[in-house]
Amino acid sequence: MGAPAPAILIVRFEENAPAASRAGTLERLGLPDAPDDRARWHHPTLLTVRLPAVPGRDTLRELRALPGVCRLLTLGPGERLSGKRNGSSTTVTLPGGFRLGGPSLGIIAGPCSVESEPQVLETAALVKAHGAVALRGGAFKPRTSPYAFSGLREEGLRILAKAREQTGLPIVTEVLDPADLPAVAAVADVLQVGSRNMHNGPFLFSVGREGRGRPVLLKRGFAATVDELLEAAEHVLLGQLAAGHEEAGVVLCERGIRTFETSTRFTLDVGAIPVLKQRTSLPVVVDPSHPAGLDCYVLPLARAALAAGADGLLVEVHVRPSEAWCDGEQSLSPAQFEELMRSVQLLQGLRAPRGEDAAG
Ligand code: PEP
Ligand code: MN
Repeated sequence: MGAPAPAILIVRFEENAPAASRAGTLERLGLPDAPDDRARWHHPTLLTVRLPAVPGRDTLRELRALPGVCRLLTLGPGERLSGKRNGSSTTVTLPGGFRLGGPSLGIIAGPCSVESEPQVLETAALVKAHGAVALRGGAFKPRTSPYAFSGLREEGLRILAKAREQTGLPIVTEVLDPADLPAVAAVADVLQVGSRNMHNGPFLFSVGREGRGRPVLLKRGFAATVDELLEAAEHVLLGQLAAGHEEAGVVLCERGIRTFETSTRFTLDVGAIPVLKQRTSLPVVVDPSHPAGLDCYVLPLARAALAAGADGLLVEVHVRPSEAWCDGEQSLSPAQFEELMRSVQLLQGLRAPRGEDAAG
């Protein structure tokens, strides 16, 4: 048996909080004003402290009274920011008002990568016509080979912004590198963090803190456990908290894990869906494209994900899959996407029988 799980105190300070308040906070908690393994300064505005138990009401009142302390949060042993407060779920609201994690299934669709303006505008119009709630598309692409196409970068962002202008669809696009964050956050409505970056804690915190209050779609690392995904979400949520953007939120995305099985590209971990829904309040979407690896497996995996309780999908669609610069084999054609959306409608019926929609 390891040490018992600590309680956590999270203190957010205003940017201009006096140094005495920071020192006073540590002192009131019985901690030295010097490096200590219990206290962690994530940023001058955000302190977290591991404690044997949640501080009492008097201590919290005294801390709250210190000048420049603007937010106090406590987590009991084993609790997380992403956990279920009062057993309830949170939703992530997209520009335009659609709530991921709300009563309606949210389908985010589009190409793996932005290739050209006509390609993206055509795809955006198509997915919008069939009921997608957001457009996906990578301008900055993580690629295994350094010689592979890695995205149109700023030009890709410009094209995505144009697609939003024409269709009204919010944009979900990946931020790969901290240096690109200002440019990506200026255009993205939702910041995607890819599988390969899920383990980079400082990067996750920055995306939360410097992401202009955009929600973050966090993909599960393909060799990460559910617990590791939840810890990763915690880094993002703390970043959002440090910037006063608590309402932005995180969407979790299961996208397949690596197993001994090679007949699909990755193994979709369907079991992770009910586990995540039980352990967190965050919306959970599933990417059926990357685990499938082939277009013909995408629809069954998507159905399985929604039947298992996913709140939506992140799916790759290409107007001409055979011409795609990236992931064409797993991209749905327009006809296949139409078929997928028919399934979504049927599964929507299972999720929120009529009447609940209005209430939820
Ligand atoms: C993607 O969705 O475009 C992508 C690169 O996925 P992942 O990070 O899951 O590999
Ligand atoms: Mn892809």
